[in-house]
Amino acid sequence: MAGGKIFIFDTTLRDGEQSPGASMNMQEKFRLAQQFVKLNIDIIEAGFPVASKGDFDCVKNIADHICDIQVAGLARCNEKDIDTAWQALKNGDNSRIHIFLATSDIHMKYKLKMDREQVLELAVASVRHAAKYTSNVEFSAEDASRSDLDFVCEVFEAVIRAGATTLNFPDTTGYAMPDEFGDSIAYLNRHIPSIDKAVLSVHCHNDLGLATANSLAAVKAGARQVECTVNGIGERAGNTAMEEVVMALRTRADLLKATTDVVTEHITATSRMVSTITGMLVQPNKAVVGANAFAHESGIHQDGVLKERTTYEIMNPCDVGLNQNSLVLGKHSGRHALYDKIAVMGYKLNADELERVFNRFKTVADVKKEMFDEDLEAILMDEVLRIPNIYELLSLGAMSGSKTLPTSSVRMRVNDKEMTGCAIGVGPIDATFRAIAKLTKTGSKLLYFAVSSITGGTDAQGEVMVRIEDNSVVVLGKGADPDIVTAAAKAYLNGLNRLEYLKKK
Ligand SMILES: [Zn+2]
Repeated sequence: MAGGKIFIFDTTLRDGEQSPGASMNMQEKFRLAQQFVKLNIDIIEAGFPVASKGDFDCVKNIADHICDIQVAGLARCNEKDIDTAWQALKNGDNSRIHIFLATSDIHMKYKLKMDREQVLELAVASVRHAAKYTSNVEFSAEDASRSDLDFVCEVFEAVIRAGATTLNFPDTTGYAMPDEFGDSIAYLNRHIPSIDKAVLSVHCHNDLGLATANSLAAVKAGARQVECTVNGIGERAGNTAMEEVVMALRTRADLLKATTDVVTEHITATSRMVSTITGMLVQPNKAVVGANAFAHESGIHQDGVLKERTTYEIMNPCDVGLNQNSLVLGKHSGRHALYDKIAVMGYKLNADELERVFNRFKTVADVKKEMFDEDLEAILMDEVLRIPNIYELLSLGAMSGSKTLPTSSVRMRVNDKEMTGCAIGVGPIDATFRAIAKLTKTGSKLLYFAVSSITGGTDAQGEVMVRIEDNSVVVLGKGADPDIVTAAAKAYLNGLNRLEYLKKK
């Protein structure tokens, strides 16, 4: 039966993180998990616990502390993966073990070097093993869309009997076409005798730009869970975009007859948070969350929208939380007002962190008249969601102008030792980066540099994002400050700190 409530399974923290250069640290993942609770997502996939100690800790941290949401951890079909996943997940309210095994002839022959019988046997044994820990077990048939459907039916029926309660049919390579994909889902619904005992799920990739279309075709044909990521980030061309599926289901409920429980008013804030944390910027013409998604340029359209919004707008911008820039605080706001606001935003900080945020807030508020939610969020990310710092900026003086040789002098702490260095460059930012490179003796290469403003106006905080590489490890660095050169220095040092952190892991 098509329609009804659709479960939203967000895998931004797992599949989304597999986007090149999009790695997130533990605090950042935790912050996003809190945001997913606010959005009222049904299930979040927090990571792949066996992949690394860092991944394990991230999943455990989320399962241990985040309530009111199902937390999933990924595992391959072997006992070690499954046991490790459960070790990370076991303290959660309703944790899910998500196991996967390929079912396509291509994958079985070349990757697994197993025949159908062996795959079926391993899938059943693994689900049975996971089901000893929890009744919340998901089984994914990797590369399902290129698999023999009758074989998928056979595997799904067998794993339901072994204890799987969600069955995922992924279009791993982004190969499927909407009609075909919908037909496959209908076929599964007709040919798996025990299908009523499980939730049928889909997981699409966007290699041909069809991830959302395929997911919706699947919903129409009876899928009840959609796996997706915020802004559609993910491996290669990315995954199904959460905001597109949710808003399509909401806007065309008349046709699709299905709903989600997502609180759509938090979509815009979540999208910004994901792009800030991962450094994956959203294209301006991106559906639902692009900067131009609700901008009307032509006179005829503007005129129409002013007379009656629905002439050219199929969604209300307020429904995705756009234009809800609330003025939070000013320079005269006291500690209590700030602490209250931070609590409302969902952060739980210790006294030391609160003090740091308050001091930083005062400095920024001195320069900038109005402080918006985004400004405070940027400060919080900068001050709180960070890893132990080896390098810290103490002060900075840069000189530039049309007739001056750009110079910069930087005072910083390196492993608790204060150091000062200066350099010249093509511009003040280049000079600052050279001074920092000398002091830190870094061998890294700057791959990417971008500046944007967090809110409008010339007094806005500048936000700088850098991507740097050292020995083929790529990291992202971010920094925010009303002074653009200082923001750049912070971003660079944040990136260098991340490189050091990864080296130690
Ligand atoms: Zn995927």
